[in-house]
Formats: sequence, structure tokens, C-alpha cells
Amino acid sequence: MAVTQSGRHATHEVQNQVPPLAGYDVADDPALLGALRREGCAWAESELHELGVLAGTAATQELARLANVNKPILRTHDARGNRIDEVDFHPSWHQLMTTAVSHGLHAAPWADKTPTAHVARAAKFLVWTQAEGGHGCPVSMTYACVPALRHSPDLAARYEPLLTSASYDPGLRPPEGKAGLLAGMAMTEKQGGSDVRANTTTAVPAGDDSYLLTGHKWFCSAPMCDLFLVLAQAPEGLTCFLLPRVLPDGSRNAMYIQRLKDKLGNCSNASAEVEYDAAVAWPVGEPGRGVPTIINMVSATRLDCVLGSAAAIRQAAVIAARYAGLRHAFGAPLIDHPAMTGVIADLTVESEAATTLAIRLAGAADRAARGDAAEAALLRVALPAAKYWICKRTPMISAEALECLGGNGYVEDYSPMPRLLRDSPLNSIWEGSGNVTALDVLRALTRAPACADALLAEIDLAASDRRAAAAAASLRATLKEAQGPDGERHVRRLAGQITVTLQASLLARHAPAAIWDAFSSSRLGAAATAPGSPTSPGTPFGSLPDGLDLAAIVARSAVTSR
Ligand SMILES: Cc1cc2nc3c(=O)[nH]c(=O)nc-3n(C[C@H](O)[C@H](O)[C@H](O)COP(=O)(O)OP(=O)(O)OC[C@H]3O[C@@H](n4cnc5c(N)ncnc54)[C@H](O)[C@@H]3O)c2cc1C
Repeated sequence: MAVTQSGRHATHEVQNQVPPLAGYDVADDPALLGALRREGCAWAESELHELGVLAGTAATQELARLANVNKPILRTHDARGNRIDEVDFHPSWHQLMTTAVSHGLHAAPWADKTPTAHVARAAKFLVWTQAEGGHGCPVSMTYACVPALRHSPDLAARYEPLLTSASYDPGLRPPEGKAGLLAGMAMTEKQGGSDVRANTTTAVPAGDDSYLLTGHKWFCSAPMCDLFLVLAQAPEGLTCFLLPRVLPDGSRNAMYIQRLKDKLGNCSNASAEVEYDAAVAWPVGEPGRGVPTIINMVSATRLDCVLGSAAAIRQAAVIAARYAGLRHAFGAPLIDHPAMTGVIADLTVESEAATTLAIRLAGAADRAARGDAAEAALLRVALPAAKYWICKRTPMISAEALECLGGNGYVEDYSPMPRLLRDSPLNSIWEGSGNVTALDVLRALTRAPACADALLAEIDLAASDRRAAAAAASLRATLKEAQGPDGERHVRRLAGQITVTLQASLLARHAPAAIWDAFSSSRLGAAATAPGSPTSPGTPFGSLPDGLDLAAIVARSAVTSR
């Protein structure tokens, strides 16, 4: 039977649709490159651009899509009924992981004596995570486990060389025989994640140097990792343990994956519920001091939460700016309509502030790891503050950027915006949800006076700027109030103000005048709480005041497709 071909109509012409953003260098980011150079890390730029170009290719975007439409599959048993607890990932996931590990985004800097190796890694993570966010989870956890593992030098000597290796070697085999290892963490239980001291998983001494762990973990992401840092109640108290998936003799450890979470956010990574039934594990650090030990891992993953959210904000601003530049409405490109110029400019200002602070914190982490006490004190207070503020603002920014694409923003195969929005709340939740992270800021300030000193010393570096100096004075008053009886009730305001004042100090010194003018006139002082201000509670973005050089601001979010 003949098929009737409908005739061509003018309406079949596709007009005013924006081509996919591909073939660009994700590392072509002036705020990131400026911050990198300030940290003395210009040596890393060529590799950063290499990774940036790769992240911006259509081929990598296709890998990201495939990894997210082909969800990991849990296989609890083999065909003969034997328990195997394997998770199958799509080949695209393994390709993304191979790139991340071969570029040292996981634990590699811990084996690198080059000063600023951690900063270089942070910048690469910020760039590559814009390719796909989900696989950043095991990469981050592997990075973060090393400082905790070093509390047990014997375990570190055994596993650190493999954790820092540039080989991605998936599959369940004895860790000692693999070319490279990945590590995860399991703290959260059914009854609670923030209050880990309420953990019920037990650890019984096995008679040698190991313990046997029995209990459940309600969230255990990337369950195909080789090693896990796990909290459990030992006779000495809550203790951090290293638990391998496969024991040195090749047998599977008694860690059973009960199910994978059907979760919001990326679909590429697996998050599992796991059960231990006398699983073998070795104590890390002093038994009974589990929290102080694992806090090293928590701190390093918090840095990646900030970097990941800064990356998401940058990606959202870039996609929105490009779309608004190419899409026309009412006779002009969207970006030329004043209301849209204001939105893109506001997103750009937020992105610059987030990236600038994220890399400054990576510099502090690098110097702290090399023994700089003042930088360690700055990081102790500034990192939870930044995690609270930057991660919490990411969903609002992603939603605003998505809306710049109108209905197209909602469509899965049009751009990565839907994926970006779905993933955007995660960094605020894990490794300390908003309140818990903000409370940690107060804890740092009350327990260690060096934290406030280091924070104010950094902020005062911009004291010659009138607006930055006024913000610093206001923060000093808030810091005094924070020590009062109602301190806990105001921790969100405290964490937010610390972050914005730190961002102000950095932008006053280092950002182009257009960015600093916009930031200071919209996010500091009375402007910060005035109705319509971007930092006023509940106000959407895109309400910058008059008199700013919006064209110069918006240009910072422009990228060039090759
Ligand atoms: C996708 C995903 C992956 C994850 N992967 C892992 C993993 O690999 N390993 C792991 O261990 N965990 C993981 N988690 C768990 C995560 O770290 C926890 O969900 C988080 O720490 C919060 O714990 P909870 O869910 O038990 O919430 P709760 O502790 O019950 O907290 C609920 C709410 O109460 C607030 N709250 C808690 N205490 C206070 C207080 N004192 N004052 C005021 N407010 C408070 C919190 O901020 C939060 O908003 C993952 C979570 C998600 C969503």
C-alpha cells in the first residue's frame, strides 16, 4: 500500500531554535582561570583546557545522556542463586570514570608533592563535573577518604598507593591485586544521618586486628567501590572502620546490597541500602573516636560539594546566556531585552562569586594539607559556611537558568538543564544538610577562636574598599551576637553572611569592576535584605539595581563553540 507523503509547508521550517551547545571549552571560564592563577596554579591550565574541551564535546554529552538513561542495575544473585551483590553500569559510565580517574580527579593529589596539586585537582573537578555530575560521587569519596585513612598508617600504606593510582579498574576482586581502587562511605542509617552518634551498627572484635560489623546503612552511594569507611558502635564507642567489598582471600565480604534507591537527581550513579552480617572491617584511627576520624573525609567531600555546586551554577549561567543570545522574541535576541539582560547578569554574578570562593577554599585545603594552621582554621569555618550558602542557592539558580530557555528548558533532549535542576539540591543535603552545616559554622567559631581570627584576617585584606570594609564591620557585629544565647537560631544567617562577606572580600580585590559593582550593590548592606535583592529571602534572581555595566557582566558567561 502506498504511503501518502504530506506536502511541505512553511511551518515545517525549523526557525529560532537554538543549536546544541557543543564543541566548546568548559574551562574557558574567566573567574576560574583567574582564581587558578592567583593560587599559583597556572601550570595546570593546559590540562584543564584539555579536559574542558573534552567535557564540551558532543561525544561526551552523549556519554552523559547514555549514563543517565541506562540506570545501574542491581544483581543480588547469579543465575544459580548465589548471592553476588553486583551492580551493572552502562559502558558510558565506565568511560566517564576512566577520564576522571586518568586525569587524577580522585585521590591522585595525595600522592603528588607539587604545591597546589589539590587546587589543580579542584579546578579539574569543577570543569569535568560539568560533563556529568553523577560519576563525581565515587570520585569525590575516593579523594576524601585518604586524609581519614591516614589515621591508620598501616592501612594507608596498604591502600593509598592504589587509591591514588591513575588506573580505573572496575570489578569485584581483592583490592590488593587491582590496578586502582575506589572508596565510598557509609554513615547514614534508617533512624538518622545527621546524628551519627545514634548509629546502631555494631562492631565486635574478631580476635585479630579486625572487627565484625553487623547492621544496616540506609544510604551507601556507589556501592561498587572497593573500600568503604563505615561508622559502627564498637565496645570502645563509635568507631570508623575500613570495610573491603572483597576480602584478601578473594571471598566476598558480608556486605549485602538490599536495594538501589529510586531517587531524584542523576540516574547514572547508584545509591544503595546495605546490610552487614558480620562483615570484616579494620578500625581506622583510635577506636571510640569515629567522628573525629571520619570528619576528615566529610570535610574533603564538603569541598567537592562547593566545587560541584559552583560548577552547576557556571554551567547553568553559560547555557542560559548562550540560549538568550541566539533565541529571538519580540524582534530581538532575548538577551537584549532589559529584563532578560538583568537575569543573565545576576546569574553571572552569582557564578563568579561561587567559583572565586570555591577555588580560594581549595587553596586553603591545599595549604592546610601541607601544615598551614591559619589556612586550616579559615577552612574549618569558611567551608561549612560556603557549603551551606552556595549549595543551597544552586536549585534556585538552576531553576532560573532553566526558565531562560522557556519550555525548551523542560525538555530532556534539548539541553542538560533538566538533569542539572534535578541534581541541584543534592549537595546541600548530603555531608550535612543545611541546618546541620550552618550549626557546624557556629561550632567552629565557639570551639576554636583561631577560626574567627583567620576568617577576619582574610576578609580584612579588602579593607581599603569602602563597601567591603562596611560588610566586614557588619560581620564583626554578627560574630559577636552569634556567641549569645540565641546563636543557634540564627546559624543560617551567620553562615550566609560569612559566605557573602568572604565573597565580597575576594571580588573587591580580584573581580572586574562590573562584577564587583553588581555584587556589592545587590548583595551587601541594606541592599542585601531590601525587597527584590537577590539575597533577600524569597526573592528570585534578576533584580539588579540601575547603573551597572550589564553588557560587561553578561560577556563573562559567553563561550565560543568551535
Ligand atoms: C542521593 C544521596 C546519596 C547519599 N549517599 C550517602 C552515602 O554514600 N553515605 C552516607 O553515609 N550517606 C549518604 N547520604 C545520606 C545523607 O548524607 C543524609 O541524608 C544526610 O546526612 C541527612 O541525614 P538524614 O537523611 O538522616 O536526615 P536527618 O538527620 O533526619 O535530618 C532531617 C532534617 O533535619 C535537619 N536537622 C538535623 N539535625 C538538626 C538540628 N540539630 N537542628 C536543626 N535541624 C536539624 C537536617 O538539616 C535536615 O534538613 C546520601 C543522601 C542522598 C540524598
